Amino acid sequence: MTVGETGNSPQGIGMTSARTRERLVQRLAASGIHSETVLERIRAVPRHLFIDEALASRAYEDSALPIGQGQTISQPYIVALMTQALLGNGTLRRPDKVLEVGTGCGYQTAVLAPLVGQIFTIERIAGLQRAARQRLQALGCANIRFRHGDGFEGWPGQAPFDGILVAAAPLEVPPILMEQLAPDGRLVIPVGPAGNQDLVRITRTATGFEREHLCAVSFVPLVEGKG
Ligand code: SAH
Repeated sequence: MTVGETGNSPQGIGMTSARTRERLVQRLAASGIHSETVLERIRAVPRHLFIDEALASRAYEDSALPIGQGQTISQPYIVALMTQALLGNGTLRRPDKVLEVGTGCGYQTAVLAPLVGQIFTIERIAGLQRAARQRLQALGCANIRFRHGDGFEGWPGQAPFDGILVAAAPLEVPPILMEQLAPDGRLVIPVGPAGNQDLVRITRTATGFEREHLCAVSFVPLVEGKG
């Protein structure tokens, strides 16, 4: 699919209409997403352009959807929650450098891009990475650097990061990612085996790390090595 294709453009009617998107935004607000900044991004990003045209009618449902290669685009509520957790209620300094692990189709990347200085995003499956790069460039996101690689290693050449957002679940939080956090930096990551995962936020403090539980979640596993 190319951005702007007939019948599936940002201006498309029906399922991709502003009204349909607004309903999703209201639903997220009612579910506890209180950051206006985040809700505005959900309103602005055309999620239907990140999935296959055959599924476009479901783009503004609050559910995860397949994006090929056994992977999924995250549920909008979870994307919003993770973004809100990373930004910290507007009370914290705007993150300058952010690492994202698991680019997938690039939807989370697009939601976050204008809210931070620069995003460094890693995806282990080359085909997904290529498609995400094309899509995000077509949407005019200019502050994103892409890497085909293993997110378990982080991005040592660019560390430390003010924020790290991980979109797939390891069994334990990888110490390397914690080490790549800047002082006051925040790591938002799902952890645990399928069926028993927690979304957690780890903050680097003056004396070590603070860990908060956000909610129970269901993510694809973080897999070692390049695909
Ligand atoms: N934020 C994405 C979610 C994609 S699902 C979206 O909105 O579409 C999680 C992604 O993590 C998948 O694309 C998967 O291939 C990728 N992934 C899994 N293990 C990884 C690893 N070790 N390094 C980089 N990416 C990984």
